[in-house]
Formats: sequence, structure tokens, C-alpha cells
Amino acid sequence: MRKVEIYDTTLRDGAQSEGVSYSLQDKIDIVQRLDDFGVHYVEGGWPYSNPKDKELFSFFKKHPLKKAKLVPFGSTAHPSSPPSKDKNLISLVEAGSEYVTIFGKSWDLHVRDVLRVSEKDNLRIIYESVKFLKKRGKKVFYDAEHFFDAYKHNKEYTLRTLRAALEGGCDLLVFCDTNGGTLPWELKSIVKEVKEILGLKNFGVHCHNDLGLAVINSLISIEDGCSHIQGTINGYGERCGNADLISVIGILELKMGFKIFPAKKLEELTELSHFVSEISNIAPQDNQPFVGRSAFAHKGGVHIDAVIKNPTCYEHINPLLVGNKRRFLVSELAGKSTLVIKAKELEFDLDKKSPQAKRIHELVQQLEKEGYQFEAAEGSFKLLLHHVLRKYKKFFELLGFRVIVEKREDNKLISEATVKLKIKDKLEHTVAEGDGPVNALDNALRKAIEKFYPSLGKMHLTDFKVRVLDQKSGTAARVRVLIQCQDEKETWRTCGVSANIIEASYNALVDSIEYKLLKDMKKEREDKF
Ligand SMILES: [Zn+2]
Repeated sequence: MRKVEIYDTTLRDGAQSEGVSYSLQDKIDIVQRLDDFGVHYVEGGWPYSNPKDKELFSFFKKHPLKKAKLVPFGSTAHPSSPPSKDKNLISLVEAGSEYVTIFGKSWDLHVRDVLRVSEKDNLRIIYESVKFLKKRGKKVFYDAEHFFDAYKHNKEYTLRTLRAALEGGCDLLVFCDTNGGTLPWELKSIVKEVKEILGLKNFGVHCHNDLGLAVINSLISIEDGCSHIQGTINGYGERCGNADLISVIGILELKMGFKIFPAKKLEELTELSHFVSEISNIAPQDNQPFVGRSAFAHKGGVHIDAVIKNPTCYEHINPLLVGNKRRFLVSELAGKSTLVIKAKELEFDLDKKSPQAKRIHELVQQLEKEGYQFEAAEGSFKLLLHHVLRKYKKFFELLGFRVIVEKREDNKLISEATVKLKIKDKLEHTVAEGDGPVNALDNALRKAIEKFYPSLGKMHLTDFKVRVLDQKSGTAARVRVLIQCQDEKETWRTCGVSANIIEASYNALVDSIEYKLLKDMKKEREDKF
């Protein structure tokens, strides 16, 4: 079978996502994780325009990667300087890598209106830039920017830019759908035509997701010789993002029969996705193919019944292949059998006819009547099982809390929370401020508990939702607070219900903290034996 290589650009294109900003340490961690997974190329960014990226290359000169090639990215030479004086090209050489990627202009519109040079000069710049890098012993990927739009507007000129890169000695042409507006069948026919005209053996693609088609656009030309796919983890990137490498890898391995990564590596796909989302500070997307927490979640009674008999009925693959989990969602409509299955999924043995099963069933029904919703708050459900089945001792006991919100004359809003807790027989009385009352309460709780359980520092709140339950009661209505927390390994949700929004938030926060501490305690026990 032909080879397909994966080229990750999370640190450059992915970093263009709204709200994403990576520190040097974040970048180092992502590169190492991708290397560990077995990704072939990891683009490390622009050493010329970004000092942090320059430092990244220096770091990896001293700490070589196992397998992945770290690739610096830059542009063709500036029109006003010869390549040997071009600081951007020089920085690419100085990055000390085996491979470099440069992008050049394919589209006459960009040459005229953005680069503002003659078409002929652009060809010369491409040729000379590639040649310069080749002479210095680099393997060169040439990203033909806006390639598909360019080809549709001016086929002849676009081909000439590619020829210039090939004559300069580039090792691989990468066709970029920079604006992400190309349809799969257009892309396939253009690529096929160009491959024939230029006599290419292979080529790469770099697709953006503005039509939601980046993944299919990345895969559709494989039979025509595409051997190199550029994308980002979780599809992060500017506007609608890039091709999601998580899907690309899952499809290549499980649907198209490629064996790209060592056996068992694919089982780390969910963790890889989660790891990058955690560092990027973007909450994981529940319905993300392969790795989303809902990707194998079953709710309807008929579906659940069928999946129990044979999972293939409603699952396209076994979730374990990508390190994901099958989930059955709990709701008041579900009978005792669903509870038994759910309990088993969470590693509790529950006999359908036992008094505990009856007790849990009654509790779920009663709490859902009060407004709890365990379907979305599996963390709280797991704690409920723990309470009934294991009767575990709580990690701390609340003796009281107080939250003050003060609007001052200078228009500043201050939130302060005080909590009084009993932890490991000690009395803790702490106070903390926050951006709002819930944040202040969260900070105060952590301040008190973290001293005793430092792993809590790894957990943070990623989502907070409030839902009014009985709207007719106006401001006296009960509310349900649903929060999502995550650490480096997992995301979980808990909920709290009360007529007081602060108390509902407190309940959800405490569940989340207990969930995290229980999880860590279990891990510790497993590590010991
Ligand atoms: Zn791009």
C-alpha cells in the first residue's frame, strides 16, 4: 500500500484560531506529544517573525525528537532582497532542521495586488528562494498558496509558478486551498490534471475548512497520488479552521486501510485530541467524530437495547479502537436495566433486583423531578453511585459559606467569598476574590482544599451553564447549574439545583471537586498495586 505522511501545523495555522495563544512551554509539550504519537512532520512556526518560534527550534536542537521532523515555515524571499540577504530565508536555514516549508504566490491577483511585483519577478523569486534553500542542503516543501483559486482564474500562470518551484529543486509541491472554498470534485479533477501536466509522482494538500469539507478534500486525492496531508489537531485554525487531523488519521487507518502509526497508537487518538484542546484552552467538542464524548453515546431506549445486543447496530467502529468510550445516557425515563448498564460502565456492579438498584432508581427519579439532569452530568451521577454503593467518606465537610458582591462608587464590581470547611479533621477558613461570585467561591474552595490535595491545581472550569427550571416563578425560580471541568486527562460535568443560583453553583462545584479527588484516589491506588 502507498505511503501517506501526516504534516501537523497546529502550532502555526492552529495558533491562528480565535482565542488561542501558545507559550513556549505549550509548544514544546505539543511537539513532544505529536512526536510520541508518530506524526511525521510538525511545523514549528515562523522562526523569522516570532522569537518564541526561534526559541522552539533552539530547544529541539538540544533535545532531539524521536521520529518527527520539526519543520520551520516561512515565505519566499522579499522582492527587494536577494535570497542570500533575506532575513526570513536565513532564519529558516538557521533553524537547523532537515526540512523547511516555504509558501509562494500562485495567484496572479495576489502577485499584482498584494506582493505588487511583476508576474515574471514572482517566478524568479520562487525559483531563487527554493534554490537558495536547496543549496544549503534543505529538503523543501513548497506550499502553493491559493493554488486552487489561482488555477481556476489563470491556469497557465499558476502552472508556471509550480514549474519555478520544481526547477528550483523543491522536494514536494503542496497544493493549498487557502480560502477553503473548493469543492471535493473540483479539487480532485484539478489535482489530477496538474499531476499529469507536470508528470508528478506525488504531492501534498493543505485544506481549509470554510465549507466544512477540509477532511474530504484532504483525502479525496489519495488514489491520484496525494501522499502528504497537512492539517491541525481538532481542526483548529483561522476562520473555520483547517483539516482536522484527528478525523484524517481515524479515516485513513480505520476506513481506508492505511497502516501509518504503530499498532495501539490509534488508541491514543482521543487522548491526543484532548491533550491539545486542554493546552489550547478550547473546550472539547462533544460531537467531534471519533473522539467526542457523544461520538458513541446512546440515548433512545430502542438504540440502547439494540447496542446491548450488538454494538454494531448503532456504532460504525468499536470506540476502544480510538480510545473513546461507549456511553449510555441516564434519564428518568430509563428503567432499572439502563441504570445497571450505566453503573457497570462506571465500574460498579449493580444487581437489578438489589435494594441498592431500587434506591438509586428512586433517587434518580426524585432528583430529576427536582430539576437535576444526569444525562449531561455524568460526574454527579457517578458520585451518587459512590454514595449509595460504597458509602465513601466525603473529602471535606462544609460548615458554611458567604458570598458578597459589592458595586462601588467607582463602578467597580467586587466579588468575595468566604468558606468554612472541615478537611482531614482540620478547620479551614479561607477567603478569596473572583471575577464574579461563582469564581470567588471556586477560588476560596480551591484555596482551602488544594493544600491537602495538590492535584486539584490541575483541574479547571471550562464551561458554566445556568438554566431556569420553572420560568413562571420569575426571580424565585429554581435554577440548574451545569459545569464542565477538565484536567490533562478527562472532561467531566456535574450539576447542582437550587432556588439560589449561588447554592446551585456551589453544589455543582463541590461535585466536580469530589469527582476529581475520587478519580485521583483511584489512580493512586492502581499505581500502587
Ligand atoms: Zn493554511
